[in-house]
Amino acid sequence: MDDDARDRPWERRDGVVLVGKSRFSNWREYRAWRRSVDAQDDHRCGTPPPAADQVARLIPTDCDLDRNVPDPVYGPTEGDFVIPVVIHVITNATGELGDVSDERISSQMRVLNEAFAGVTGGEPTGIRFELARRDPAGEPTNGVVRHANDAWYNDTGAYWETIAWDPTRYMNVYTNTASGNFGYVQAFPATGQAGEIQDRVVVDWRVFGEDGPYGPPYDVGHVLVHEVGHYLGLYHTFQGGCGGADCAATGDLICDTPPQAVPTVECDDENGCGSPDPVDNFMNYSWETCMARFTPEQVRRMRCTLLSWRPDLGVPSDPDCWTACPGDFNADGRVDGVDLGQLINAWGVGGEEIACADFDFDGQVSGQDFGLFFQSWGSCPIDPCSDLSCDDGDECTVDYCVAGSCRHVQLEACGGPCGSPTAGSCYESHGTPGCDDQECCEEICNLDPWCCVVQWDASCRNKALSGNFPACPGP
Ligand SMILES: [Zn+2]
Repeated sequence: MDDDARDRPWERRDGVVLVGKSRFSNWREYRAWRRSVDAQDDHRCGTPPPAADQVARLIPTDCDLDRNVPDPVYGPTEGDFVIPVVIHVITNATGELGDVSDERISSQMRVLNEAFAGVTGGEPTGIRFELARRDPAGEPTNGVVRHANDAWYNDTGAYWETIAWDPTRYMNVYTNTASGNFGYVQAFPATGQAGEIQDRVVVDWRVFGEDGPYGPPYDVGHVLVHEVGHYLGLYHTFQGGCGGADCAATGDLICDTPPQAVPTVECDDENGCGSPDPVDNFMNYSWETCMARFTPEQVRRMRCTLLSWRPDLGVPSDPDCWTACPGDFNADGRVDGVDLGQLINAWGVGGEEIACADFDFDGQVSGQDFGLFFQSWGSCPIDPCSDLSCDDGDECTVDYCVAGSCRHVQLEACGGPCGSPTAGSCYESHGTPGCDDQECCEEICNLDPWCCVVQWDASCRNKALSGNFPACPGP
C-alpha cells in the first residue's frame, strides 16, 4: 500500500469509482471487474505479503516471517493483555460518505472481542481490545476521532503522518475506502515496521461493524478480526498453497491449520491439498458468516508477535476482566452498587491487584476511573441476537443474525449461481436471489454479484431488460 501506488481507485461524492480511465458505477462493479482480471483477486484483503528481502533481514524470534515456534510460553494462560484502540473515522469532505455511527463502532468492538475470546468457537486468545480512554497527551477520550477529507477518505495523502496516535502504544484503526479492499494492514509486524508512524489497520467503512451498508454477507464485523490477525503476525491460511513437509516453515507457518491450496470461496471446502480446508478460520477468505475461529498455534503466534514485535502495545490485564460491559466486575449484567464496592476496594492499588478497575490503564485506580465507571452505570447492553435462532432449514442458505434480525444468504454452489430456479424470472425484481433465466442471470451476476448473492433487485432487472446483455433476449 505505497502512497504513490498507481491506478488507485477514487470514489467520487456520487459514489462513482474512477480507476485510471475506467469508470464504475459502484464498488461492486469495481470488484467484479477486478475478479474478471484476476479470479483470485476480489480485493478482499490488501495486506501485502512480505518481500523476500524483508524475510532475510529479520532479527530471529519465535514468530519470524519465515518460521514459527509455537512454544507453550505463548499460551493464553501465561498472562493476558488489553490493547488500547483508536478508531479514526474518515469521511469525505462533505461527510456524505464514510460515516460510521458510535453504535456501529461499539458493535465492532464487541464482535472483535468475542472473536478473540473464543466465544464464536475458536481458541481464546487472552487478548482483548478497548477503545482508548486517554489520548497521547493523557487527556480523556472515547477512543474515536473523526476527520473529513476527500484524499484521506480515498486512502491517499499519507493521513497517518498527521493523525496517527503513537503506534507503539495504540492500535490505529482507520475507516475509509481502504483503496477498494475490504481491509488491509500496511505491513506484517516482523518486517520491522510495527510501531512506525505508518503502522495501521484500514477497513472499508461499509463493512466495519455490524449491519454496515455493504450488506450481506459482509455485515458481521469479521473483516476487522481478519486484519487484526495480520496486525498480530498471522498469514492467510492459504499462504504458500499446500506448503511443504515442515509446516512451521512453509505455507502459513501454522501446523494446526490444514494446508490449503486456494482461498475459500463462499463457504465451500475445496479439499485442494487432500484434507478439509480451514473454511471457518478467520484468516481465510470465506464469507464472514462462515468464519469462527483462530487455532491454538495461531493464538501463540499472535501472542509471540505482541511480545516480540509490539512490546509496548499490550497492557497486562486480569484474564477475568473481559465482559461485554466495562464496570460489570461480577458479570451479572448490571453495573450497580456491588460493582461500586469492588471499585472502592481497588482504590489506589497498583500492580496486578487493580484488575479491571483501572479503566484508563494508567496503573492505578483513581478519580478518573470513577468517572469512567459511572458512565456505564445501569443495565448492560445485550446483543439483540443472543437468543435468536435464524436457521430456516434450507441447506442452500447461510443463516445468521445481525443487529437483531435474521439474514439468509443464498449459496452459489447450491443450485447454480442464481440459486433456485423457482425464484422467478430475472426480468422482474424479487426479494431473494435466483431466477429461472439461468444464462441471463449468470451474465449479469458476473458484472454485479449482488444480484445472485443477495437480492435480484430493480437494478438487476433493469440490466436484464437493457438489451446490453446477449444472454438476455427479453421476456
Ligand atoms: Zn488478509
